[in-house]
Amino acid sequence: MEVITKFVQSIRFRIALVFVMFLLFTLESLGVFFVHQMERQDLIAFQDQITLPKYVTDRVKQALEDPDTSAGNDKIQEILAGYNNNVIQNVQIIDKSGNIRGSLVDGQQTRGQKTEDTNALKALANDPNYLKTRNVSKDSERQEIMTTPLEITTKGNGREVIGVAIVDASLKRVYENINKIMWLFIIAGLIALMASILLALFLARTITRPIEIINKQTTRIAAGDYTTVNHIFGSDELGQLGRSVNELSQRIEDSTETVNAERNRLTSVLTHMADGVLLANRQGQITIINQSAAKFIGINPQKALNHSIIEILGLSGEKTLADLLDDQTDFQINLSSGGRDLIVQAYVSLIRRKSGLISGIVMVLHDITEQEKIDAERRMFVSNVSHELRTPLTSVRSYVDALADGAVDDKRMAQNFLAVVQDETERMSRMINDLLELSRLDQGTMEVRSELVNLNSLFGFVLDRFDMILENQAADGQCPGKPYRIVRKFANEDIWVEVDPDKFTQVLDNLMNNALKYSPDGGTITVTLKRVGQEAIISISDQGLGIPAKDLENVFNRFFRVDKSRSRRQGGTGLGLAISKEMVERFNGRIWVESVENQGSTFYIALKIVDDDLIDAGEDWNEEG
Ligand code: ADP
Repeated sequence: MEVITKFVQSIRFRIALVFVMFLLFTLESLGVFFVHQMERQDLIAFQDQITLPKYVTDRVKQALEDPDTSAGNDKIQEILAGYNNNVIQNVQIIDKSGNIRGSLVDGQQTRGQKTEDTNALKALANDPNYLKTRNVSKDSERQEIMTTPLEITTKGNGREVIGVAIVDASLKRVYENINKIMWLFIIAGLIALMASILLALFLARTITRPIEIINKQTTRIAAGDYTTVNHIFGSDELGQLGRSVNELSQRIEDSTETVNAERNRLTSVLTHMADGVLLANRQGQITIINQSAAKFIGINPQKALNHSIIEILGLSGEKTLADLLDDQTDFQINLSSGGRDLIVQAYVSLIRRKSGLISGIVMVLHDITEQEKIDAERRMFVSNVSHELRTPLTSVRSYVDALADGAVDDKRMAQNFLAVVQDETERMSRMINDLLELSRLDQGTMEVRSELVNLNSLFGFVLDRFDMILENQAADGQCPGKPYRIVRKFANEDIWVEVDPDKFTQVLDNLMNNALKYSPDGGTITVTLKRVGQEAIISISDQGLGIPAKDLENVFNRFFRVDKSRSRRQGGTGLGLAISKEMVERFNGRIWVESVENQGSTFYIALKIVDDDLIDAGEDWNEEG
């Protein structure tokens, strides 16, 4: 059914239909005209055929004028009987009184009867309205009735109707003929119709086929397939159309490829960009969001689509869409969540149509967390440095003021004051040295002369020094409370690492000093050196104050001190561990601490061991060199 409906609606069917209808109409008109013409011609010929010849009418007229009616009648009957025309069915002769005087058929019965034929009576009465020929239906057969007045010329040269001859003839054969021809026409018409339908369909196909092909191609183009190229049908209008469609297809393919390539490039740039990019329409609904932006916000990119940019960025209450549209100054957004610090700088720009109408918003999010942290640290550092330097300076100044105000005259007091001033200036000088060292480390300008070092020897040398100091202190009676003891637990094997011996000695000195400094009651300081896998692990454990758990992660920060006043009293700068950490990391090592408050602390350093093979190879090379 659907196929039929489709066919009926097709151009092919409509062209064929118009063609066939036109042909049918032409054939029909021709047929009707021709059959009608034929009928007329046949009827004229038929009328000629049934017109009584003059010699018959002349003889009939004579018989009618015969005063002896009976003899006249016989004569008429004889004339009629002698007249042989196989088309004629009957001939009646009626005299001027309207009596039937003779009849070819049933002459005896009708003779002498008055005619009832009004047309004949009209002819007799010279009525011009009589019908010369009539076409009537009798017993379902068509008949032609011809009424011929029989006239004579009177003496005064007038004309007188003396009777009428009525000829009946069957039109059966005439109509049979016409019917035959009509059927011939119908059959020929039908054959022509069939042939024309086929021809029309064929012709229509030659027109619609290229259209169908072009239609299919345009459908494919619409579906995004530009590959197939039309077969060109000749150089007529359809051929030109096909060529144009081919060209169009090629152009669309080219431009689509360009657009796709551009889009891919843009998508890849957007995807791999470290900065977050958000695109929103005029209503502020997100239309594009890249991976980085989604990661910053902590949302699935698909879920963010069509949501308000203001809500997604958590700006409700701070900014409105109108603010973004009105003012494109960049601003900061804090996207920190769940223990993750994240501050981004948002740069806003508007997408405008040619007409100037705003069609969207582009927002670029740049992660400035690190920068912010660095800035904050720097600010903190500067404030710490100022604070740390101000304290000794204030103290120096107040003692110098006191001296100037007269304390200088009191020799003992003056000596005490000067000792304090000396201490404080030394501390300031140490601090400035530490700061310079840190600054060199930060800027990477510190000269590091790394070389292969036997860690056992280096560490042993450092500890020997400390043993000596402790011994001297004990001998001088300087040791507060219980005495200190250094216990060494070294691996039996030699451990080689690549460090700058001077700088690394500085690190070890610092850790050892701290162990002593923060063990006010003395105690054992256990130092170990061992190999764990490919690493040399150094540990320095004391039994001192220890570090509260909450401060453990801060001890390596600049200026951090658990107990500021104690550290200061002991001449600490709060920079020793920070410098140690920087240096160890410079040697690709790690430093960390474990501690229990009031029980003691253990500082660890891990350094990468240099393989024996390499050392041997190096030695060989050195020997050869
Ligand atoms: P400082 O000059 O104050 O010693 P450091 O950077 O060397 O500076 O140490 C930072 C802080 O770490 C110290 O002030 C101290 O509070 C703590 N600390 C370092 N070593 C130890 C230790 N062995 N025992 C306890 N606390 C320590």
